[in-house]
Amino acid sequence: AAKSCGRGNFQFFSAAMNAATHERLLLENRLWQALEQDEFELYLQAQIDLHSGAVIGAEALLRWHHPELGMVGPDRFIPIAEESGLILPLGDWALQRAVQLLDRWRSLGLGHLRLAVNLSARQCHGTGLLPQLDRLLAETGIDPALLELEITETAAMQDPERSRELLQQLRSRGIKVAIDDFGTGYSSLSYLKLFEIDRIKIDRGFVKDIETDPDDAAIVSATIGLAHALGLEVIAEGVETQAQADFLRGKRCDEAQGYLFARPVTVAEFEVLASTAETV
Ligand code: C2E
Ligand code: MG
Ligand code: MG
Ligand code: MG
Repeated sequence: AAKSCGRGNFQFFSAAMNAATHERLLLENRLWQALEQDEFELYLQAQIDLHSGAVIGAEALLRWHHPELGMVGPDRFIPIAEESGLILPLGDWALQRAVQLLDRWRSLGLGHLRLAVNLSARQCHGTGLLPQLDRLLAETGIDPALLELEITETAAMQDPERSRELLQQLRSRGIKVAIDDFGTGYSSLSYLKLFEIDRIKIDRGFVKDIETDPDDAAIVSATIGLAHALGLEVIAEGVETQAQADFLRGKRCDEAQGYLFARPVTVAEFEVLASTAETV
């Protein structure tokens, strides 16, 4: 019985692997074309001021409309784009689109909204990012403080000296910098002193069980205190329940993002939400 079970598992495993390999090939084959064919879209997820309840901005999240697979999320294609190098032109595209949106919002009466864009490790450690940002800022004249760039601690720690230099360059232009997925990397707190940043994004892994797990509650509470003591702002990701929002507000967390308030939506849907919403 054990033998046949083992063989069954193996067959199941290899079938699952074939499916995964098949999907990967479907994604990989099409990836470079996808940018030319305009198959990518930025979705926006609202960010909320926890004390006033107002929408203060959004995070831009990539989506891919694959002709055979339908809507594909970034967790499925960003790693492939990183490996193949497509992440550089794709990252350029996302930044350009984001700055266009900030420019557009000024004329829609939404000129107070901030927009956060995720940076990949390759973008952080390459040489194209600052010239591109300078060009976009000069072309549009948007307020650089409305643009926020998110970098994970894992990406930043791949080359701490270079990251320190990049973040300093961003901040000298008035662009905001947030550390994404805070607490999930194998990094030391000393980088908070090394890097010039504006905001910490508490990873949703810590927020998830905040009401039931005293360790997570302690970590979140201490992170907020630490950030404030260092003069940084804090946003919590993945807030799904009112109880989580209440806990965070009680701990003086500044902002929140999560399904409780809004899912990632199209630009048009977000613009309606931001024009009308009084959340919380
Ligand atoms: P992230 O930057 O940490 O983005 C937050 C992710 O959490 C998003 O997943 C968002 O949809 C999801 N999320 C938001 N609220 C909730 C919630 O209440 N509950 C749960 N369970 N999830 C929530 P998404 O859109 O699938 O993006 C995944 C990751 O892909 C992002 O994580 C980011 O690392 C990466 N990514 C997305 N867009 C870009 C991009 O333009 N460039 C780069 N380099 N990476 C990107
Ligand atoms: Mg992010
Ligand atoms: Mg995150
Ligand atoms: Mg993440």
